Amino acid sequence: MTQENASGMGRTRNEFWFLAGSQDLYGEEVVRRVGAHAREMAEGLTARLPWPLVFKGVMRSPEEITRTMKDANADDSCKGVVVWMHTFSPSKMWISGLSTLAKPYLHLHTQYERCIPNDGIDMDYMNLHQSAHGDREHGFIAARMGIRRKVAVGYWKDDAVSGDMETWMRAAVGAAFSRSLKVVRFGDNMRQVAVTEGDKIEAQIQFGWEVNTWAVGELAARIDSLKESEVDAQMAVYRERYKFATDDLDTVRYQAREEIAIRRILDDAGSRAFSNTFEDLWNMRQLPGLATQNLMSEGYGYAGEGDWKTSALMAIFMKMGEGLSGGTSFIEDYTYDLNAGEEASLGAHMLEVSPAVAKPDAKPEIRVYPLGIGGKEPPARLVFDGAVGPAVLVTLVDMGGRFRLICHDVDAIEPYLTMPNLPVARVFWRGRPDFRTGTAAWILAGGAHHSVLSYSLTAQHIEDWAEIMGVEYVHIGEDTTISGLKQQLFIGDIAWRLSAK
Ligand code: MN
Repeated sequence: MTQENASGMGRTRNEFWFLAGSQDLYGEEVVRRVGAHAREMAEGLTARLPWPLVFKGVMRSPEEITRTMKDANADDSCKGVVVWMHTFSPSKMWISGLSTLAKPYLHLHTQYERCIPNDGIDMDYMNLHQSAHGDREHGFIAARMGIRRKVAVGYWKDDAVSGDMETWMRAAVGAAFSRSLKVVRFGDNMRQVAVTEGDKIEAQIQFGWEVNTWAVGELAARIDSLKESEVDAQMAVYRERYKFATDDLDTVRYQAREEIAIRRILDDAGSRAFSNTFEDLWNMRQLPGLATQNLMSEGYGYAGEGDWKTSALMAIFMKMGEGLSGGTSFIEDYTYDLNAGEEASLGAHMLEVSPAVAKPDAKPEIRVYPLGIGGKEPPARLVFDGAVGPAVLVTLVDMGGRFRLICHDVDAIEPYLTMPNLPVARVFWRGRPDFRTGTAAWILAGGAHHSVLSYSLTAQHIEDWAEIMGVEYVHIGEDTTISGLKQQLFIGDIAWRLSAK
């Protein structure tokens, strides 16, 4: 899906800076060789990474390190800093610079040469190829200073290392996107619902999200003021992407109006995420269904019932997954199939599931059905079966004083029921490690009924993003046990309260 060009925020070039640590002790020739090796590594890694790794020099003094870190902070295109100690770089030299660094930080622990040459190794060789102890000196100071970081270990030409780096880079790009994200709310939270609530000021401090309200009346007025020719153009988009399984074109055209009007308000506000609620549709004729679904497929985050947290997460995870296969959507755990041993979760929503997670071999169908709640006209919506494959379900909850990010590994499975009377898009999945453990873990952790379903990201992407953002992270996967999880939540609760700002 096209996600890269709809907003000004996406236009900043992304690059990552690569610093090789050393010192003056070794003389010019060694430093020259360190620089040549580091440049070669930056170029080799760049060829295998989604964004350039730009070599910024051999760092030999505290002043040079601090200056480079300040430059990294000031450069919007720099999304993170990668450091590597080819030689030994005394870490007190790094204290000032690391204190200053405000960008995501990856410590690459590698070595220029893969193997020790039996005949070639002498003290000169060892003095150049000494990251095994130079990087330990560097790792210590980051640990001592309590700096959040990623450590990638292994030979730099190996896929495992570039894979770790790519995952972290995506998280870093997501972090930068997060810090400039604006979320538009049409209407408030659904009445009486707890888990979709949260501290918007804390969210802005921690994640950067500006969460603000826009008048539903303004949206309704914009919907009504559109020209028929504008609606025609939007209908042409629907015809290209979807199968019309309804004759009620008037209803579909109203969704087209809603989509155009919502998109304009978002774009005018520089926003890439929104929420609304069926309890506050004022002068609107339908709850946006197809309109919201198509917007989601174009990279706009969304979650229903005023859930700005899930909406923001969805927008960020789409940004992190750009260029990867598999889609991302807002989803809700709805109903279970509880045959012992083959339990499955049916995920859906009242209307709004992104066609980005549809099975790739079938066009989603536009259908019109009545909606039992909200008291509005029957809305047009996309109905489809979800794709099959490994995925993550991610939710963010406000624990009071802090947020908790919960990620569950699931396997989306072949839709084995046709469910001809179910009028919404649907996805079947099985949670790991098994239904009873995974579900109990989610509920113990306080996971919401709303989450982001992503087939393009893995739990490692989510963990790296959580690390950069400094948010509590709970992973439910193959190794989860209930007693282990309870212990983690108990200790985490104490630790996060102690470390609260
Ligand atoms: Mn919901």
